[in-house]
Amino acid sequence: MKKVVKFGGSSLASARQFKKVGEIIRSDKSRRYVVPSAPGKRSDKDEKVTDLLYQCYDAASTGASYKKILDKIKKRYEEIIDGLDLNLNLDHEFSRIEENFVARAGRDYAASRGEYLNGLVMAQYLGYEFIDAAEVVFFDDNGVLDGKATDRELSERLEHVERAVIPGFYGAKQDGTVKTFSRGGSDVTGSLVAKAIHADMYENWTDVSGFLVTDPRLVENPEVIEVITYRELRELAYMGASVLHEDAIFPVRKEGIPINIRNTNRPNDKGTLIVESTCRKPRFTITGIAGKKGFCSINVEKAMMNSEVGFGRKVLQVFENYGISFEHMPSGIDTMTIFVHQSEFEEYEQSVIAGIHRAVEPDYVELESDLALIAVVGRGMKATRGTAGRIFSALAHARVNVKMIDQGSSELNIIIGVKNADFETAIKAIYDIFVTAEL
Ligand code: ASP
Repeated sequence: MKKVVKFGGSSLASARQFKKVGEIIRSDKSRRYVVPSAPGKRSDKDEKVTDLLYQCYDAASTGASYKKILDKIKKRYEEIIDGLDLNLNLDHEFSRIEENFVARAGRDYAASRGEYLNGLVMAQYLGYEFIDAAEVVFFDDNGVLDGKATDRELSERLEHVERAVIPGFYGAKQDGTVKTFSRGGSDVTGSLVAKAIHADMYENWTDVSGFLVTDPRLVENPEVIEVITYRELRELAYMGASVLHEDAIFPVRKEGIPINIRNTNRPNDKGTLIVESTCRKPRFTITGIAGKKGFCSINVEKAMMNSEVGFGRKVLQVFENYGISFEHMPSGIDTMTIFVHQSEFEEYEQSVIAGIHRAVEPDYVELESDLALIAVVGRGMKATRGTAGRIFSALAHARVNVKMIDQGSSELNIIIGVKNADFETAIKAIYDIFVTAEL
């Protein structure tokens, strides 16, 4: 049994957190490959080392004073090293980092040092081999991950290494320049390592006990999702639910490796298991509810629209011309409605309307702004009658007017459009009818 374990920034923010991580790793021999993030926040008001590194680099590379910030970063590591009683001195590393900052080695290089240094500390603490991610994770000249080369190199290097620490978040281009993933990218490194070694499990340790059925800012203490499929997760993540970096899914998904989201502060909690498919019955009819505010709908009406071949394409072409992607497109016999992100649309609003008039000569075009979309997601909905009925009666009881309904043919999700002002009420009502009532 081989497991890859990735620890997020809050799990490694202090010596105290490192000790919890050490215990977790030592309690299971199969936890052989460790991917650390940079030290995160120790409290709400604290700063992440990654953010400090960006600040420090921006100052150093423009000739502004940076020493104070660099000292702050150094202190963070020294506190961890002292707290763990390690015989490790990072002075030399810090001098090199400082030189490279002044020589403008790049913002990516700067940010990556958080993970690099934490990897050195972690390797020393565990007595595992340290493998610099710049030697095993590759990007092409355009800065896009080279999945094949990475997989080849990682599997070759790790084949003969029993236990190793590979820092998350970065790799290198062919010319050796350091390149990072987008923020939160250590999740992706963990996934690449898991794929390369054909891990039995990719454990992603964070500060929550898994995915919650809905946003805890909207519903008090929502239930944890025990098992979720990759497809369900995609639907929920798209609508704003975030715990895991989106790109972390693909490498392991292809290999059928499950991801287990775990809580470093509550190691006995089972967390959430993300799997390709499962015959395990979901605990509730629905798996999760997520949503986003800030959409706008453009309703295009024209008599006999349905018999005009190419009508839809011409309308969508106008959006494409302005680089606006559409989210949903419910239609009626003489109408079609396009949902877009308000922030993307606002700037081009009048040009798009004019473009639609020119393209299809509609009877009229009507806009409605400040709309929210809510996704109710669940593999259990397919086999259950009356799910949609329950959603809409719950919304009616909560006095929420439904603006739009869209059920994908996979029956995995139902998307509901409501006014921004009704967003919280709607999510609570749906949660109550499916979760509170089924508990
Ligand atoms: N340290 C990086 C960040 O703060 C990457 C990570 O933690 O995954 O985004």
